[in-house]
Amino acid sequence: MERSPAAARNLRFAVIGAGMSGVLTAIKLRKAGYRDFVVYEKADRLGGTWRENTYPGIACDVPSHLYSYSFEPNPEWSHRFSPGAEIQAYFEGVATRRGVMECMRFGAEITHAGFRDGRWHLETKDGRRDVVDVVIAATGVLHHLKWPDIEGLDRFEGALFHSARWDHGVQIDGRRVGVVGTGSSAVQIVGAIVDRVAHLSLFQRTAQWIMPQENPCYSDAELAEFRRNPELVDKMHADMAVLFSAFSNGLVDANSPQMQAIETACLANLEQNVRDPVLREKLRPNYKAACKRLVMSADFYRAVQEPQAEVVTEGIERVEAKGVRTRDGRLHELDVLVLATGFRVDRFMRPIRVVGRDGLELDAVWEKRPSAYLSVSIPGFPNFFMLNGPNGPVGNFSLIEVAELQLGYILQLVEPLRRGECCEISASESATQRLEVERTEAARHTIWGSGCRSWYLDDRGVPMSWPWTFDRFRAEMAAPKIEAYERKG
Ligand SMILES: Cc1cc2nc3c(=O)[nH]c(=O)nc-3n(C[C@H](O)[C@H](O)[C@H](O)COP(=O)(O)OP(=O)(O)OC[C@H]3O[C@@H](n4cnc5c(N)ncnc54)[C@H](O)[C@@H]3O)c2cc1C
Repeated sequence: MERSPAAARNLRFAVIGAGMSGVLTAIKLRKAGYRDFVVYEKADRLGGTWRENTYPGIACDVPSHLYSYSFEPNPEWSHRFSPGAEIQAYFEGVATRRGVMECMRFGAEITHAGFRDGRWHLETKDGRRDVVDVVIAATGVLHHLKWPDIEGLDRFEGALFHSARWDHGVQIDGRRVGVVGTGSSAVQIVGAIVDRVAHLSLFQRTAQWIMPQENPCYSDAELAEFRRNPELVDKMHADMAVLFSAFSNGLVDANSPQMQAIETACLANLEQNVRDPVLREKLRPNYKAACKRLVMSADFYRAVQEPQAEVVTEGIERVEAKGVRTRDGRLHELDVLVLATGFRVDRFMRPIRVVGRDGLELDAVWEKRPSAYLSVSIPGFPNFFMLNGPNGPVGNFSLIEVAELQLGYILQLVEPLRRGECCEISASESATQRLEVERTEAARHTIWGSGCRSWYLDDRGVPMSWPWTFDRFRAEMAAPKIEAYERKG
């Protein structure tokens, strides 16, 4: 029998993290009629990735008109791939306009979340406490810095920092700068600083496929048209979503025509734009394009061919006071060393100590590796949901769309709680295990499983991400299969 709205429970929510996903959650909770929620953010302002990554050259690598909330198109994007500071300003602007700033608690790092007596008991680092019905962890995936395992980092006498903690107090103009890593951040940094430095050493462990991608700015006439014609901006978002879905659908088959087309474009870029045959061979990857996250750049090859640039492929032996010593015995003298070595992608909301039903420790459940049902729910952790959690889609497309779809799904899961039909909901162990077996098998056939070393791979070498088409992801997120969930109370 349908319960009357009067029987509805007044649920209290805690959202952990005020990055793109946390801001989205606050807006959507309010839209769904929830009033009792708090967003806990450990930093002093929102933004997550875009607050933390301020290195020269930072920009999104999916088009800005796609990397926007579906409900907040932005006619003001300056470039096809806009710079990080603009993206940060976009999220701050959206949060302010939508009136969700007031529910954010900054400088509030959640350290403990325990499920007792049907509710989640939270604690912050500075001892604040809260008790809520539902937790939504929006703590990010590219958040915890990965430091390379290189001897002697602490002995370097110059300036040393991770790309996600760029030290703007350090002068790089006219100095000798080393960059460790060749992922998207490193490639953006190299293109942005090469003309400013005296010498640039790029320490490359793995060559990257580079997708040639111009980044024009929008003209005044185009911007005026975007402002005048909101339907056009919506259409750009929709058209790009279709294009990127087609790309994402191709990722799940290493031999798909989409993957072959990408490799052809990257190969032509390498052959046509790197003149020196020795450098060209250094830069030639020995795995399929898109096996590692595809790097987009219009100027990387130009940058590494500048006379002051050097691509160092000899392995790093150690870091010394004056620079980096490679295995051939050479010392690369440096004033600044940038570690563009990425993130620990297996952390998710940890180091929060999360304790589920009957004292179940998340660290124990995830001892081998993190997993979750459809990346949003973990058996034994009722009323606890994640955005961009384990095994979700990651790739060269907008994580905003992923988060929007996941949140829509989570809000449907919460509905029975709101209606008072049950007190606890979490994925069942059997559904989670079944899906994980299927997912692992499918993942081996994706482009990420085609034979390269990358952050997509787990400890067994199995790609950690969503291994099916983006269309299937959308279909799964449209409505929960209620039989996959355990409801109590
Ligand atoms: C350099 C870079 C470029 C990228 N480019 C793209 C791109 O072009 N397209 C794309 O789709 N994606 C891109 N990404 C991925 C990007 O991370 C996501 O698009 C998105 O910004 C993630 O938002 P989020 O809110 O899920 O996580 P984050 O942005 O990581 O935010 C998580 C927030 O949670 C907070 N937090 C964590 N733990 C706690 C705690 N215990 N207590 C309180 N607060 C906590 C953090 O401080 C942070 O503010 C990029 C990532 C990086 C690093």
